[in-house]
Amino acid sequence: MRTPIIAGNWKMNKTIEEAIDLVKEIKSGLKKDVETVVCVPFTTLSQVKKEIEGTELKIGAQNMHWEESGAFTGEISPLMLKEIGVDYVIIGHSERRQYFGETDEIVNKKTKAALKHNINPIVCVGETLAQREKNIHKELVESQILKALDHIDDEEVIKIVIAYEPIWAIGTGKTATSEEANDMISFIRNILRDKYSQDISEKVRIQYGGSVKSSNIAEIMSQSDIDGALVGGASLKSDEFIKLIRF
Ligand code: PGA
Repeated sequence: MRTPIIAGNWKMNKTIEEAIDLVKEIKSGLKKDVETVVCVPFTTLSQVKKEIEGTELKIGAQNMHWEESGAFTGEISPLMLKEIGVDYVIIGHSERRQYFGETDEIVNKKTKAALKHNINPIVCVGETLAQREKNIHKELVESQILKALDHIDDEEVIKIVIAYEPIWAIGTGKTATSEEANDMISFIRNILRDKYSQDISEKVRIQYGGSVKSSNIAEIMSQSDIDGALVGGASLKSDEFIKLIRF
């Protein structure tokens, strides 16, 4: 019922030339019925967009500001992304929360701005290892979700993709077990059911992220509530990413 969505998060990697090469290979490996997205650096967006024209491959940015324009040195606005034809934008990735001070309030502003401009947000949530060890990971994720979705209505929320990424599993080679991931993701679905409705909770797609690779994707995707993956390291090589799409 929910179309699987596999998104590559290239982070701060790839020059324009490298990006074009990678995308040329990825677009030849797409699979029907699996939505595939590449979230690429700002500097490569325009040319990657041209390269994927006429294919089913979608393009995303990794961040944006919530204002349309103004005195925000170094920032990129939703209007600028829309002009390029960006389909998705990652909001509130843990690296942005951790290194650039993004709060839940900022995540909410950015999510609302993306929706206003018809860019689908991929909203990231997830706990640190210390929070999991203290057994407060569910409270934490619940609070992140409710704050991110503040003042977002039924029609809008179904355009959002949520990515559950436990911080301790990002780039560490340590994946949450598929049961741990599914347990949190079904917990998130219950939060959506309580805030919106059963129907809405069944429509919103929720990804897992954190050391996803071709060797564990099938197991992850076999879980009842997991609708896809947000993939960092393993999205930077075409053969590995194509194997992921073809889980
Ligand atoms: P990883 O990163 O796949 O390299 O762990 C995932 C992410 O940060 O989105």
